[in-house]
Amino acid sequence: MKLTDNLYFYPEKGMLDCNTYVIKDDLNVIIDPGSLQFLSQLIKDLFKDGIDPKDINIITNTHLHPDHCWANEGFKNISRAKIIIHPLHKKFYDMTITEASKFLGFEGLEFEADSYLDNNKLSTAHMDFELVPSPGHSPESICFYCRSEKILIPGDVIFAQNTGRVDLPGGNAEELKQSIEELSQLEIEYLLPGHMDIVTGAEDVKSNFEFVKKHVFAWL
Ligand SMILES: [Zn+2]
Ligand SMILES: [Zn+2]
Repeated sequence: MKLTDNLYFYPEKGMLDCNTYVIKDDLNVIIDPGSLQFLSQLIKDLFKDGIDPKDINIITNTHLHPDHCWANEGFKNISRAKIIIHPLHKKFYDMTITEASKFLGFEGLEFEADSYLDNNKLSTAHMDFELVPSPGHSPESICFYCRSEKILIPGDVIFAQNTGRVDLPGGNAEELKQSIEELSQLEIEYLLPGHMDIVTGAEDVKSNFEFVKKHVFAWL
């Protein structure tokens, strides 16, 4: 589904999948290809929008929980795209890939990064994303923020009326609150989380941050 001129949204398709986002521009980027179980369905959805997976250049992730990166390697094999992730993902690879995956019942999940994103930036011809480190749900969580279009892709840091869990290895409630506090200062029209619904419109996004701070923070 097309969200903006250069951004597409593919809602999660079931358990242990996640919302996937695709930037279609001079460079085509898939953010969080999700679960390997649903990869063939995702590919069908991409074709419906006129996106040939072979034209994807970069596979990247908001963080390395298996519901977000399980299909990294599978997508790479059918597309010849490069897996280019954040340097924090390298630093915490063992904690999230190995330990969190085990915690969630995944054994032997792994992938190899081809390279790493430089300078906290990901740019295509029409979109510049700042990469905002946002620990708490997991230590390597990063958010993709496009200032000119007011788009935030926060992974599992914040959802519609909820936050990500903090009970997985490396999770930290105080850090998550701090990350959300900082994100709430940004101008956002499109809040595009890793699970469940997206939130659109500056007022609704603002109310969502307020709701989370008021009703969810106390439970963390
Ligand atoms: Zn997660
Ligand atoms: Zn997730």
